[in-house]
Amino acid sequence: YPYEEARPERQFAAVFNLNRCIGCQTCTMACKSTWTWGPGQEYMWWNNVETKPYGGYPQNWDVKLLSMLGPQEWQGGVYAGKTIFEAADPAKQTTSGFLALGYLPADEEWRYPNIHEDTAQGHSPHGARLPEHESWFFYLPRICNHCTYPACLAACPRKAIYKRQEDGIVLIDQSRCRGYRKCMEACPYKKPMYRGTTATTEKCVGCYPRIEQGQVTRCIATCIGKIRLFGWVNEESSPVHYLVHKAKVALPLYPQFGTEPNVYYIPPRWVPRDYLRQMFGPGVDAAIEAYAKPSPELLAVLQLFGATDRIIARYRLEGEAIVGFDDRGAEVVRV
Ligand code: SF4
Ligand code: SF4
Repeated sequence: YPYEEARPERQFAAVFNLNRCIGCQTCTMACKSTWTWGPGQEYMWWNNVETKPYGGYPQNWDVKLLSMLGPQEWQGGVYAGKTIFEAADPAKQTTSGFLALGYLPADEEWRYPNIHEDTAQGHSPHGARLPEHESWFFYLPRICNHCTYPACLAACPRKAIYKRQEDGIVLIDQSRCRGYRKCMEACPYKKPMYRGTTATTEKCVGCYPRIEQGQVTRCIATCIGKIRLFGWVNEESSPVHYLVHKAKVALPLYPQFGTEPNVYYIPPRWVPRDYLRQMFGPGVDAAIEAYAKPSPELLAVLQLFGATDRIIARYRLEGEAIVGFDDRGAEVVRV
């Protein structure tokens, strides 16, 4: 990967607990009413919640890319197959000199953001017939993953996309973008979207003005199911770091793509494991086991979902004691 900014000082990250999402789309509307209510943005849903296994925005985005990628090979816990960077066709090199396997979704594929909502049929997504009682579905909320190795950034021939060192948020400089849509083609999660009225591409901005003020994103703050937790994945004191790196209950979406996404998911317990493994990797079994029988420590961290980072930042572990501070940094409670 050719860019140095991959590992910023602090990395914006979130954990979404799929066991608790009720598909209410409050997050979707909170994002829409904040960022994409203008002309030319009508079809844009920077935050979307799709019903798996059949739903997708754009339609079949993941099935399409997985089939382009070929066999998904895992050796133990490590992906041994080709990432989107390795599987690219050298003949399709962009003018940025960068390669990633991808495709540009057609207009009609963006048309129904909530297609197949609540669809649970008695057969697996691979076509095999299952007994009726094995019907299942789950909601998959998605935003831009503010990837460690953003394919969008590397593919842009205008160098309009950058990753901020202070928080790892990936942004598109609207004054540089000329709407070539190379980012849309390269992003495996299909999160950059084209705006016809400005002839530029836009995407989730991680609510950076709120993050700068110590607040969490709109989609996280408004989540009805309290399924979302904001944090810094590369800071040991962050609960997100704990869930991802210590408890290992939260996993990246399609890690085989190779961009190292920074939104992590606690997989849903009722979904067939083979489906979950192709989506979150082989860590699924251990993650569900840990979530189903949580340690007291994990249970405590799971209580933080729905709390703001500002509240979490007021508490620190000092030896055996949990110490709480007020706005000015004065100690107010010790337990
Ligand atoms: Fe770029 Fe897509 Fe990753 Fe977002 S999810 S940083 S748009 S590659
Ligand atoms: Fe799921 Fe929360 Fe969004 Fe509702 S607001 S759809 S519970 S992520």
